[in-house]
Amino acid sequence: MFMIGLTLLWTAWMLSQPPFSTSSMTVEIVNRSQWGARPPTEREYIPMPVPYLILHHTAGKRCYTHENCSAVMRGIQNFHMDDRKWGDIGYTFCVGEDGRVYEGRGWNVWGAHNIGYNNKSIGLCILGNFVNESPNRAALDAAKGFLDYSVEMNKLTHDYILYGHRQAKNGTVCPGDALFNDIREWPHWKQGNHFPPNSKGCEDHAYPLYSMACREIQETTTMGFDNSSELVHISAAQRLYKALGVVFPLVVIVVTSYLSNMDKINQSESSDMAVEIVSRSKWGARSVSEHDNMSMPVPYVILHHTAGRRCSTYESCCAEMRSIQNFHMDGRKWWDIGYTFCVGEDGRVYEGRGWNVQGAHSIGYNAKSIGLCILGNFVNDSPNKAALDAAQKFLEYCVENNKLTPDYTLYGHRQSKNGTVCPGDALFKHIQTWPHWKPGDHFPPSK
Ligand SMILES: [Zn+2]
Ligand SMILES: [Zn+2]
Repeated sequence: MFMIGLTLLWTAWMLSQPPFSTSSMTVEIVNRSQWGARPPTEREYIPMPVPYLILHHTAGKRCYTHENCSAVMRGIQNFHMDDRKWGDIGYTFCVGEDGRVYEGRGWNVWGAHNIGYNNKSIGLCILGNFVNESPNRAALDAAKGFLDYSVEMNKLTHDYILYGHRQAKNGTVCPGDALFNDIREWPHWKQGNHFPPNSKGCEDHAYPLYSMACREIQETTTMGFDNSSELVHISAAQRLYKALGVVFPLVVIVVTSYLSNMDKINQSESSDMAVEIVSRSKWGARSVSEHDNMSMPVPYVILHHTAGRRCSTYESCCAEMRSIQNFHMDGRKWWDIGYTFCVGEDGRVYEGRGWNVQGAHSIGYNAKSIGLCILGNFVNDSPNKAALDAAQKFLEYCVENNKLTPDYTLYGHRQSKNGTVCPGDALFKHIQTWPHWKPGDHFPPSK
């Protein structure tokens, strides 16, 4: 009798709830099982209501039917879980141009969409790339209806603040110019940039591992760096010298004069080819516990920009490398910085994952390419001459040192990944004049 009463009470309560309808409009929410989500591998809970809504585009495929949008959601979840090694799809909810709202991580779950805001916001994305065009009416109405609904359900505070992702993260164009223009008309949107503080304030991060790593970084960064970066020449002799130095100290004495002569020859031959490579220890990289080996030479170079800060001094480029590594390890949960090497506008090349290690920079190409990035955002401006020269010399250096095949192919990231603007229009235009660049899109088959 008691159970029946309880069931009746529960049924009455359920019926009194307005599950998907608000006074002004109806929101259709497609839950995880309806779009075929994989279960998350990890999940952390946060209290709601939260005071922020961060709006994203996916910069990927648009979709107009339940079937297509479900497939797009599965594709994004696979990418976030398999490539980025996250516990689940990053967004809290997504909106399709079919006018439906697709559950991402869902209510009361810590997101992975905007470092510094993940535990105090809903990350809402609209499926598609909205740099040039706005989403259709169905998607915009569904997104707005969903925001009202979130307030009514006590998931967003009544005075919540809406930001486009670009306002809460430095260097991203998300949610695209066109969509960003649209949301500026919405009632809760506030102007200005509100980037979270950079790797300072370890206590702000509730991930225990993050706090630990964060403190380590701060200790490392206060140790300072010496300014002498390695000058690497095309010198097999030097490498041999080093190896011999470890194993056969006596032999080294005998062959030293021979090797140093060879070294001089190498230096004179390659005097216009000197590439200055700044090693991980020089820029203060954190040590990493895991990596996948990759045999070299490899047949591809994928060129990236970071879409972040530019740097033109040794100190500022080292700081930028540390910041990117922190973001990739703490924010994206990767093993290490994603790129193989990076180039600064100081004309130096900074070791990322380095030789013979798989990168995390372009899915489908990570095990067969060098991921070379130029530090900065090159959508509107090209990198300076120092960076462009260093990048090109570095690629020649890779071929001469058997790290790239002599007939390697160079692609801009946008040619190897659908929907990204990387390496920026200006830089992309530039690399099309480089000898190994090939035209066309070469996206890997989707999973
Ligand atoms: Zn975004
Ligand atoms: Zn890229």
